[in-house]
Amino acid sequence: MTRTQHPNPDALCCDEMRAALEMNCETHDDPFECPDCLIGYNEGLNQFALIVHDGGRDVVLIRHCPWCGTALNSAA
Ligand SMILES: [Zn+2]
Ligand SMILES: [Zn+2]
Repeated sequence: MTRTQHPNPDALCCDEMRAALEMNCETHDDPFECPDCLIGYNEGLNQFALIVHDGGRDVVLIRHCPWCGTALNSAA
């Protein structure tokens, strides 16, 4: 079974975003700790963000999908 950060991956805009939110890493449970993980999804806030891998938990919020350009966070 594929683990993913998003509760409903079928609702995501494109395959690239689905893949980016999958958690396939055997080593890291936390996307912030995994250098392969580019995108973080905050379910509570319904926000998508680029993970800044500087050892902390910094993110850069994104309003559009970097792959297909679909507007994200439309509820906010
Ligand atoms: Zn997309
Ligand atoms: Zn990893």
